[in-house]
Amino acid sequence: MEQTGCGGEWVSLDSRGALTVPANPNIGFIEGDGSGPDIWTATRPVLDAAVFKSYAGKRKINWLELAAGERAVKETGDPLPEKTIELIRKCVVAIKGPLTTPVGKGMRSLNVTLRRILDLYACIRPVRYFPGIPSPVRHPERVDMVVFRENTEDVYAGIEWESGSSEAELFARLLRDNFKVSLPAEAGIGIKPISPGGTRRLVRRALAHAVRRGLPSVTLVHKGNIMKYTEGAFRKWGYELAREEFAQTVVTEDEVREKFGGKAPAGKVVIKDRIADSMFQQVLLRPEEYSVIATPNLNGDYLSDALAAQVGGLGMAPGANIGDLAAVFEATHGTAPKYAGLDKVNPGSLILSGAMMLDHLGWGEAAKLIEEALERTVADRIVTYDLARQMKGAKEVGCSSFGVAIIEHMN
Ligand code: NAP
Repeated sequence: MEQTGCGGEWVSLDSRGALTVPANPNIGFIEGDGSGPDIWTATRPVLDAAVFKSYAGKRKINWLELAAGERAVKETGDPLPEKTIELIRKCVVAIKGPLTTPVGKGMRSLNVTLRRILDLYACIRPVRYFPGIPSPVRHPERVDMVVFRENTEDVYAGIEWESGSSEAELFARLLRDNFKVSLPAEAGIGIKPISPGGTRRLVRRALAHAVRRGLPSVTLVHKGNIMKYTEGAFRKWGYELAREEFAQTVVTEDEVREKFGGKAPAGKVVIKDRIADSMFQQVLLRPEEYSVIATPNLNGDYLSDALAAQVGGLGMAPGANIGDLAAVFEATHGTAPKYAGLDKVNPGSLILSGAMMLDHLGWGEAAKLIEEALERTVADRIVTYDLARQMKGAKEVGCSSFGVAIIEHMN
């Protein structure tokens, strides 16, 4: 493996996309804007301590700081310098805090841009309950799901034209003249592309995750009853992919009913589908029936935030954006600018994203150590302000002290 000259070695990918991880990998980090530096300062020692304790000092991350966001604008005039993209590609794995979307710079969002440039097509959000965290539902502990949200297509592809613009008028004319479709006068227009390739690579990742982890099911969530050739096609292509590539390990819900008397054969993953509106009821009423969810971009955006709320909010919700050539792990909340520099916000989301990253590197022991230590810290009612204000008898600590408490709870 190539040395960097700064203490670390590069992670590499083989032709099948599997990672080779040295004992001292170079991992990129972007602190982020607003309270990003606060949560990163709390997170990094937790990740380092978990790796040190899990591997008796034989493994160590070599952190490489990458410029992005407001600091990068000050230093280079560019919120997302080419060098940062290059280094993420070279590191293969990186972690980031939240970034402010610059206003009036012509970029929709740095996060969306990063996902598009690096083709990070799967947004992965595990959602589970940590005992003690205040939740708006009676049985949050029944939620244990991983959402695989398609990250590059759908109405999020950014193909849209403003009401009254020449492009919108031209498009409206094209529809009227060629397809006899009339749009309301001065309609703004957005396009919703969903492709077989985009669907298949997302569903492949979701199924592979379920098979690898021995999880019971993958649910395709779509609105195919209304949008037949986009959302309906997502469902169709998802089932096709399961049949073509996972025939030995996956059965459909229909097969379970018709061939196996309603009980899934041991060791098989059941693939099923639900219409999006019904799914929002299902995850509230029967969450234990769902494990892995694969869904187009917009459904996934709504569903993953709703599920996070169900188990106590975004402050503790981790996330990752993964493609075939790179993976970027990130806090799922924003920059919380009013708390910037106060050492106050909850670093849980970034810490758990870091645990996901360690798991992705194949360092599952360190990931588990962090999750268990965080669980014990919260069970001891040591929490940041956001949770303390909802918990009776909580001991409120600052952002960095919460990180220290997690390290103290690793045994
Ligand atoms: P936000 O930064 O998530 O903050 C909204 C509120 O959520 C905060 O005022 C705070 O609530 C709570 N909150 C957020 N993070 C928290 C944490 N770690 N611990 C405790 N509470 C937390 O949302 P926003 O104000 O809408 O967005 C601010 C900026 O972030 C925008 O520029 C937006 O573009 C950007 N953003 C970036 C990402 C990303 O990088 N992935 C994602 C979303 C938004 P209380 O005030 O009630 O305490």
